Amino acid sequence: MSALTLQTRALFDQAPYQHCFTARVVAVSEQGVALDQTLFYPTGGGQPGDQGHLLLPDGSAVTVLDTQRDPLLRAIIWHRLEDGGAGVQVGMEVQGCLDWERRHRHMRMHTCLHLLCAIIDAPVTGCSIAADKGRLDFDLPESTLDKERITHQLNELIAAGLDVRAHELPAGEYGSLLEMTRTRVPPPTTQGMVRVIDIPGVDMQPCGGTHVRNTAEVGAVVCDKIEKKSRHNRRVTLRFA
Ligand SMILES: [Zn+2]
Repeated sequence: MSALTLQTRALFDQAPYQHCFTARVVAVSEQGVALDQTLFYPTGGGQPGDQGHLLLPDGSAVTVLDTQRDPLLRAIIWHRLEDGGAGVQVGMEVQGCLDWERRHRHMRMHTCLHLLCAIIDAPVTGCSIAADKGRLDFDLPESTLDKERITHQLNELIAAGLDVRAHELPAGEYGSLLEMTRTRVPPPTTQGMVRVIDIPGVDMQPCGGTHVRNTAEVGAVVCDKIEKKSRHNRRVTLRFA
C-alpha cells in the first residue's frame, strides 16, 4: 500500500463512548503505528491525543503513549508506542483499548468549554484541555469577567442536563451558521462536510473533538483563574470541583 492511499478510519466521531476496537496495522514508521481504523483521538482542537494500549496477536500489550495526525497526510493517524513499537508489523490484527478514564475526563472538560464559550460574549483565540483542567483564551480588552459568576453560570448549565448533539453539515450550508459561532477560524472539513456540536439554545460550534452526550455528565466545575495574557487576551481556567 503506498503512502498516498493510506488512511485511518476515525471511529471516535461515531462512537465516542466505545473503549476497545479491533484493527489492522497498515504502516509502521518512526512516527509510530498506523491502523486501518482507530478509536484513539489524535491531538487537535486543544484536546490531547489519547493513550491506552494495543494487544498484539501473541497476547502481549504495548502502551500507546500518544496519538497524532500525520502533519502532511492528515488522513493518517499515528499511534506512538512504548519502545518504538518493537514487534508490531504491517498486516497484524490488533485490539486497541483506550485509557478510558483519561479520555472521559477530556470529554467532560471539552464539553464544559463549549458552555464557557456560550456565557462569555467574545471571540475565542485559544483552547487547551487536560484531564483535570481546561482553559479558553478570549479576545477581550476589558476585564469584565468574574470567577464566582462564571462558576455559578457554568454549574447551572451543567445541572440543567442539556443534550449535546453532533451534526454533519455540508460546508456550504455551514457558512450561514458562521455568524452564530464565536470561532473566527474556518472549520476543518472532511470530504466537504463540517462537524457541528450543538447544545440547543446554548452553543453551536464547528468541532472535531469528543464530547459527553449530556451536560450533567460534566459534573461540578470551578473557575480557578482569570489571567491577563496580553492587552487583548483574557485566559479563563477551569477545573473539576
Ligand atoms: Zn468541541
